[in-house]
Amino acid sequence: MQQLIDFSKHVLSKTSKKNYKIPELKSDLLEIINEIEEYSEKKDDPYYIIDNKMIKSLFDLSWLKEIENDDKNLEYYLIGLFLFDCMNIELYRSVIQELFFTKNNRNEFSVLLYWVFENKIHDTSSGDELNFSSYLDFSRLIGFNPILPSDFTEQMSKILPNFEVKAEEVEKEEQIEKSVKNLTERKEYVEEISNYFDNASLPYLDYFIEYSILNQLSYNITKKQSNKIELKTKTSIAEFQKKIENIYHEEGFPVVPTTVDPVLQPHLTKIDAKSVQMDKLATLPKELIKEFVSSKAYSSPSNAHKIRITFLGGGGIGNMGIVVQHDNNAILLDFGMSVANNAIPRWHPSLQFVKAVLVSHAHLDHSGGLAYLINSKNDKRWYGSPTTKVLVEKLLYNTSNIIKEKKRQQNQFTPAMHSYLQTSNLINLFNAFLPLKPKKTIEVAPGFEVTPYPASHLFGSYGYEINIFGKRIFFTGDFSTDPSELFSGAKFPKDCDLTIFDGTYYNGHIPEEDPNTQILQAVERNTRLIVPAFSVGRTQEMIKRLHRLGISKKRQIITTGLAAEITKLMGIKAEYDIKKSFQPTDFEENDIVIAGHGMLQGGTARTLLDSTKEDNKTGIILCGYQAPNTLGFALKISHPLAKQQFHQDVTSAHISGHTTPSSLNEFIANLEGKKVMIHTPRGVNTLKEHKEVTIPSYLEEIVIKN
Ligand SMILES: [Zn+2]
Repeated sequence: MQQLIDFSKHVLSKTSKKNYKIPELKSDLLEIINEIEEYSEKKDDPYYIIDNKMIKSLFDLSWLKEIENDDKNLEYYLIGLFLFDCMNIELYRSVIQELFFTKNNRNEFSVLLYWVFENKIHDTSSGDELNFSSYLDFSRLIGFNPILPSDFTEQMSKILPNFEVKAEEVEKEEQIEKSVKNLTERKEYVEEISNYFDNASLPYLDYFIEYSILNQLSYNITKKQSNKIELKTKTSIAEFQKKIENIYHEEGFPVVPTTVDPVLQPHLTKIDAKSVQMDKLATLPKELIKEFVSSKAYSSPSNAHKIRITFLGGGGIGNMGIVVQHDNNAILLDFGMSVANNAIPRWHPSLQFVKAVLVSHAHLDHSGGLAYLINSKNDKRWYGSPTTKVLVEKLLYNTSNIIKEKKRQQNQFTPAMHSYLQTSNLINLFNAFLPLKPKKTIEVAPGFEVTPYPASHLFGSYGYEINIFGKRIFFTGDFSTDPSELFSGAKFPKDCDLTIFDGTYYNGHIPEEDPNTQILQAVERNTRLIVPAFSVGRTQEMIKRLHRLGISKKRQIITTGLAAEITKLMGIKAEYDIKKSFQPTDFEENDIVIAGHGMLQGGTARTLLDSTKEDNKTGIILCGYQAPNTLGFALKISHPLAKQQFHQDVTSAHISGHTTPSSLNEFIANLEGKKVMIHTPRGVNTLKEHKEVTIPSYLEEIVIKN
């Protein structure tokens, strides 16, 4: 509480120093301090709560630009937490969320605060969940690079003065930190570093390094065991395996219980231990790696013949990846990259069994991770419509060029992205593609028969029926049952045993305004317009719509860059112009420019937005999904900070490639089998009448008995 008072005094001293012209500010602050002091005296009185309005204004003050640059920045964040005792939970939530979502870059401290907050509201009874590993899980979940253990302890003690880390944990964390630093800085020494590698470091590492570490690790262990096992008598493979398990145990890694490993099973004959050669041992790591990570990777005998579905991503809107496994064969449904932060689904042992990837459509959140998974060294294949292949090719080469030309800040791209999006790797990826035709059934992996259905979400988008020895699973991908400018509406089978469907607008709020009326009015009000839109899909939808509404007769519709290329490629019939590049100086009266980036995080749309900040005769039409921590989102919800900066006329028209809430309810009602909803915004709960709908959480596994 004292800190809160100190903080208020500090803000007060800053405001008087800066000589603010608003006299009320000062008296407000004094009042707040009085109130807080009074509160600290009466805090045992359960009915005494500080006026929330005041707390909010104090918080708002802490965000004034001049104060924000102060070196004691962290103290301002801290306020949210100290207020926890004296403000109601709704306000606290809004303050924390403001911190977390509105800053352009989520910083480490706001992530930490948000995580503490989430834990506090879900489990106020114990502080058990507030440890380093649960923080790592949270960071990974939101696609955020976690801070290192030593910083964690320091920052946490600022948030919770009583926060303590056990001595043995400190030692362990120091070890993690050491190996993470080494691994990040000296990748070429993976081999020696893995000698003292600890699996708690995994969440820090990207997919590529994780994979090589695990490989190397199992190799090391195999090597060790060959020295330890006395090669005198005949040994069974089971005994051999037992010894390996003991070594794993000594090394402190998880050990799979003694059930016999199905990979080793074929070799389960007496072998002459003397004949075990080092070069033969070298082939073992691949098998061992599957065992190493945990029983999750396996069909143990009790799990044999069950179909197991694991959700590696896609809970919440972001990168998608679902593994469907049957014995030692598996397929993957999409493998995406988060549009907000470039994260791909994290590595999971079941990925080793994947023979084929079914790609629902070209959007990068469904296809952007493919280059990580498929390369010349493995025989994985990917499937989709021919159009999907063409579009993924465009999008990935475009990303690869951006990396090459360093058009964007380099730190947006991880080192792994640099290597995986190299031209040679992309060539391999597109060689590994096989086309699927609508309603034609093909076996893509042993026992996996697949039939595609058009999904009406994007050019070439499919939903897939997957038949595994008579069990039928349907995966919708992104889909729309509603007709649009471009598509007629999806028609999927309803009688599968299990349907995994996109719930983007589940229980969502669709504005009542007719988007066409909104667009016509925006055109009427403004001399020129910026339409931020995704290059693939939304741009073409908008071009056709503007044409049909007769706007292209009166105004000049312009598109540029990748969006223009795709529009041409897809043969869109409408009146529009293509400009190779478009600069703010080209932006004239009468122009309507449709350009990326759709959430205004960069690109031509952002350049035009920045250059017309002061002009309230320039209009913006937001017409796509806006992720919570983007400028597009801030403009959409008229956030005060965004409004302060950008004076343009903002229209938010609901145009979507996803099924509307009412049609989605109808779709759910007509489904016959088990219903699994994915791709729902964080925090959405199912309605009372949808008790039978499951929303899987991250890494959740659904098992179907065959
Ligand atoms: Zn999509």
